[in-house]
Amino acid sequence: MSLKAKFCAVCGRENSRFIGSTCVDCYFKTLQIDLPKSIVIYACPVCDAVKSEGLWHNAPEPHSAYFIQSIVKKLKLPPHVELEDIEILQQGKESEVEISISIEGKRFSIVRPMELYITDQICELDSKRKREAYEGILQLRPKGNVHEFLDKIANELKFVADNILKMDENRNGVDIYFLDVTTMRHLVSQLKKRFKFYMKISAKEYSWDKPKNRPKYKITILAREKE
Ligand SMILES: [Zn+2]
Ligand SMILES: [Zn+2]
Repeated sequence: MSLKAKFCAVCGRENSRFIGSTCVDCYFKTLQIDLPKSIVIYACPVCDAVKSEGLWHNAPEPHSAYFIQSIVKKLKLPPHVELEDIEILQQGKESEVEISISIEGKRFSIVRPMELYITDQICELDSKRKREAYEGILQLRPKGNVHEFLDKIANELKFVADNILKMDENRNGVDIYFLDVTTMRHLVSQLKKRFKFYMKISAKEYSWDKPKNRPKYKITILAREKE
């Protein structure tokens, strides 16, 4: 190391570490550190699995760990700057993140606002379980436009919405998947008060109900509105 006195071209300071002709403090002041504006991770409301950067983690670490991983991945540091630590000071819409860096061994920290969100999303496993969990399909075949028909029965549908897994529209109408058959039958009886249907009911064995020692059925009700 040279013993020749060196001083900062910006502030004149002598006893410091230098990047070229600038002391590290002055260099720090010129730094531009780009951070993403917001980061979202997804948490499964059923099993607490976490999705971050497009991947599901089934035995998740604390949520803050995923935010930090994500920040590290997106952080672009200028030359001579090393990352020391990232700390999340607050989560939510008005989050703050503290980023500690070192420049030639001297430590600095920056506090920045960021939006860090956790959003509900059913994980792949649970959505698969749910998809297979239906007990009944109501195949509604209105005589007119299916959207108009769905609008007409919006109130009845709202009443059983919690029990509906999915609704598949097709050329002929709509197939509504129910978690349990009782609810489906209830909806059918409500609709029969307002519309006239040709009905066809079929049952398909799909597994064995051990406690009751009998087969479990998936029931399909085809309801075609009469002309
Ligand atoms: Zn300086
Ligand atoms: Zn899950």
